[in-house]
Amino acid sequence: MDVLNLIGGRWSEGEGEEFADTNPARPAEVVARGRFASAREVERAVAAAREAAPGWAATPHHARAAVLLGAADLVDGNAGEWGAELAREEGKTLPEAVAEVRGAARILRYYAGEADRESGEIYASPRPGENVLVVRKPIGVIGMITPFNFPIAIPAWKIGPALSYGNTVVWKPSSLVPLLACRLARALTEAGLPDGVLNLVYGEADAGTAIVGHPGVNAISFTGSTAVGRAVIARCGELGKPVQTEMGGKNASIVLADADLDHAAEQVVLGAFRSTGQKCTATSRLIVASQVADDLLERVAARASGLVVGDPLEDGVEMGPLVSSAARDRVSAGVRRAVEEGAKPLSDGGRLGDRDGWFVPPTVLDLPGTGVDFWHTELFGPVVGAVRADGAEEALGLANLSDHGLSAAIFTRDLGVALQAVERLEVGVLHVNSESAGTFPYVPFGGTKQSGFGPKEQGRAAREFFTQTVTVYLGAPA
Ligand code: NAD
Repeated sequence: MDVLNLIGGRWSEGEGEEFADTNPARPAEVVARGRFASAREVERAVAAAREAAPGWAATPHHARAAVLLGAADLVDGNAGEWGAELAREEGKTLPEAVAEVRGAARILRYYAGEADRESGEIYASPRPGENVLVVRKPIGVIGMITPFNFPIAIPAWKIGPALSYGNTVVWKPSSLVPLLACRLARALTEAGLPDGVLNLVYGEADAGTAIVGHPGVNAISFTGSTAVGRAVIARCGELGKPVQTEMGGKNASIVLADADLDHAAEQVVLGAFRSTGQKCTATSRLIVASQVADDLLERVAARASGLVVGDPLEDGVEMGPLVSSAARDRVSAGVRRAVEEGAKPLSDGGRLGDRDGWFVPPTVLDLPGTGVDFWHTELFGPVVGAVRADGAEEALGLANLSDHGLSAAIFTRDLGVALQAVERLEVGVLHVNSESAGTFPYVPFGGTKQSGFGPKEQGRAAREFFTQTVTVYLGAPA
């Protein structure tokens, strides 16, 4: 299938370079083809978003919500088919892919519901007859740049609130997953989104840079790696442009001596290997109380070794390939380096078989300590490295020994220790007795330290970024 750019309500091929979206499980298989937008088309997309902005902002919130609800129904209704396409272009298993598509529909519905919930504030005034109102207005044109690993859920959790609160959008998805981007944009236009309110442009770093720097774009919402996110923050800083970035993670799971080890092992495996470890919230560091470390690691390694790795569309497959050959090479090199630095592989490579695609085995490493590169660098693949800790205090300190601060998990039966973790861990998301990954659309999501910058996403938190307040001193006429 051919994917098209969407500019000012018109679907068009694109004037830029041709690109192909391939199946990471079968690299010779083309899933979709398209052309990047040219610099001129990015300009036109911004102009279209600017032109559409006043009309969309003036559209009643409930009418904007009706479009989101219509799109949610289309997304849900196509979850089976689009889930299979997502699995083919990104590589996560079919059940995970279908769940992601359904999740996107839920997110759109949540933000449609904001029409019923959105409210300002009224304060009293010391002056007779006056009230002070705090009202919220859209920001204008939002530039959105999204990563490959959640091709429909992440765009939905940016586009949903942006549109619901009355903004217009210029969106550049990752060129590794153009098909699901096209599906989401089509669902919105078919549900009645007016021309120019959402503009979709395919491209690489140059298109992203053009959107970030464009004076017609009022704010930037970015999700992706820390390196790119920091460059985006720096440019927005120079321009004085509001920016929200969700970036990389190096998430720790702590398993203390009193934990249910079977449960903890199962959750660590889910956290580390689902979506082939390509989740910003994936578990990649494991900190285990020394008394139970051998026992826990044996269970984790046995489960990892038993995982069925293969084509994401096949029944029973538990882990698919990485998204690209570059990702496969980066993860393999990271594991080799860890082993050179003294890490001991504990898993036997899973049932990988002889395959063409960008597969790597689920890998559990026993690390010689925290001095190894693996401890600090996000590999973004199915690899978890473990160290031992003497007690909760040391474990919490080790978890914080990272520049990243997205998510963490702690497994314990001790409420006091769990509360201490809430206090001490430098993360934006904390799971007590569940895996480090997973988010609900109605609560804030995002990281601290090098993992996140600016207002959080999802839930009501999204409104902090996608609206601006006006404080009105409303006095009675004299
Ligand atoms: P990436 O940083 O390579 O790319 C993200 C997006 O930025 C893509 O659309 C890309 O084309 C664009 N881009 C690249 N260079 C750019 C530039 N100079 N200016 C503007 N845009 C540019 O990330 P990826 O490989 O697609 O995704 C994986 C990364 O994203 C991981 O680090 C992961 O942890 C992170 N991530 C974070 C979250 C979160 O919520 N914290 C969620 C998902 C993924």
